[in-house]
Amino acid sequence: MGVVIKGCKLGCCSPEVAALPRGGWDDAGSKIDGRRTEHLRREWAATSARIDRMQADYPKCKLCGQSTMRLDQAGLCSKVTEVHKTYRVRLGLPAVPAPAPAARGRGGRR
Ligand SMILES: [Zn+2]
Ligand SMILES: [Zn+2]
Repeated sequence: MGVVIKGCKLGCCSPEVAALPRGGWDDAGSKIDGRRTEHLRREWAATSARIDRMQADYPKCKLCGQSTMRLDQAGLCSKVTEVHKTYRVRLGLPAVPAPAPAARGRGGRR
């Protein structure tokens, strides 16, 4: 039994590949070593899974299903597409939601 040399933490790269300078990116940072593409894919998959978990806790827009930090009075996200505007108007609300109070308090009377 030899010594186990670890590759990357995602288990896709050999130790040699994991030790590439700049993680396998070239000097300009625009091209990555072909052996690292699987690593990038896994890294991205892990990141988007994390984002999905985070967003699962957010309320969702009734119209487009977009997760958002804060729904407006109509229960919609902050988009201002025609469907979103129409829906708000039907409820008797302004077509475009008023800005959040924090943004409004600025630059008032001096
Ligand atoms: Zn890897
Ligand atoms: Zn929406």
